[in-house]
Amino acid sequence: MARPLLAEIDLGALRHNYSLARELAGDSRAVAVIKADAYGHGAVACAAALESLPAERRPPAFAVACLEEAEALREGGIESSIVLLEGIFEPHELARVEALGLWMAVHSEWQVSALLAYRPAKPIPVWLKVDSGMHRLGFPPDQAAAVWERLAAAPTCATGLLLMSHFATADAVDSKYFQRQLDCMQALARRLDAPLCLANSPATLAWPEAHGAWVRPGVMLYGSDPLERANEASHRLEPVMTLRSEIIAVRDLAAGEPVGYAGRWQASRPSRIGVVACGYGDGYDRHAADGTPVLVAGQRTAIAGKVSMDMLTVDLTDIPEADIGTEVVLWGRSRHGAVLSVDEVARHCDTISYTLLTGILPRVPRRYT
Ligand code: PLP
Repeated sequence: MARPLLAEIDLGALRHNYSLARELAGDSRAVAVIKADAYGHGAVACAAALESLPAERRPPAFAVACLEEAEALREGGIESSIVLLEGIFEPHELARVEALGLWMAVHSEWQVSALLAYRPAKPIPVWLKVDSGMHRLGFPPDQAAAVWERLAAAPTCATGLLLMSHFATADAVDSKYFQRQLDCMQALARRLDAPLCLANSPATLAWPEAHGAWVRPGVMLYGSDPLERANEASHRLEPVMTLRSEIIAVRDLAAGEPVGYAGRWQASRPSRIGVVACGYGDGYDRHAADGTPVLVAGQRTAIAGKVSMDMLTVDLTDIPEADIGTEVVLWGRSRHGAVLSVDEVARHCDTISYTLLTGILPRVPRRYT
C-alpha cells in the first residue's frame, strides 16, 4: 500500500479564486502569478486549468520568475502570454525570450542595454520595474522616466510597455507606506502617460485604487488570504491544496509521558496519540508548535510533539473513533466538509502560507480534481 500522503489540488477552486480576482479587478486585466511551480501546486496543471476558462474569462497572461519556469510551461503546452517577473539573468537568454514569445520585466541598466542592443524579429513586450519603496529590484523613480523614454523610442520594445512596482506592505492595516508607494507610482504614470501594474494579492483584494491597468495576484489564487485583517472579498477565497494523510499508528499514554524528540509535548492526562504519515521530509514545517491545528475525521485537534522527518503526532484523546486509517488533513478541506486554512497553520509555525505551500516537496504526489 502506498504511503498515505497526498496534496490534492482542487482546480475548480483555483478557477473560482481567479474569477474572484478578475471580478475585483473590474476593468483592469488580471495576470495569474504561477511562479515557484504555482506556489507548489504544479504550474502546468494550474495554467492549463486557467487556460480552459472561456476566452473572455481566462488570464491574459501568466507570470513566472525566470526563463526555466516559462520553458516548463511552454513544454507543458501552455500557449498564453507569459511574463518573466525578473527578466533575464544573462544577455544571451534574449534569443530564448523571443523564441518562446515571452514578455519581460527589466529592473537593471544592463538588462535595458542588452534589450536595446538586441534586434528581435517581433517586439518583446517590456514591463519597466520601478523601486517605489520595496528597495529590492527596480529603477529608482528619478531614473525611471529616462529609461522609459529610451524603451518607448525603441520599436522592438514599445509594444506592451508598462510601469510595474511591488508593494512592501499592501497586506497591513496601516496603509501609510503603501500609500507612499502608490502616490509615487501614480505620479510617475501621470507624467509618462503610462499604464500601471502594481497590485499583488493583498492590493487586488483590498486596494481598488491600486489596480491600475493590470493586477498580478499570486497567493490568493491558491485560496490563501494575505490580509492582516480579512475583508469581505478574502472571505470568498476557497482552499486549493488539501494536504491529506492518515493515522498510521496509535499510542495510549499515561499522564506525564512525553512524545517525540526532546519530549517536547507531555501528556497532562491519560492520552491517545495518533501518528500521521507526514513530516518535514515532505515539506511540512518542523517549526509547527504544539497546538498547531489539524483535522482528524473532520474534527479539529492539534499537533502534540515535534515534527519528525516522516511523521508527526497528534492528540486523539477527544476523538475516540479515530484509528489507523482515519483521515488527517494538515490543511485544506476534509472529506467531512470541515476546512482548515493554510494561513492558520502558518501562524502556528511562525511563518506565512507562501512558505508552507511552496515547501511541499516532490515526494508528495499531487492529485488534481
Ligand atoms: N508580483 C511580484 C513581482 C511578486 O514577486 C509576487 C510574489 O512574490 C507577486 C506579484 C504576487 O504576490 P502575491 O502572492 O502576494 O499575490
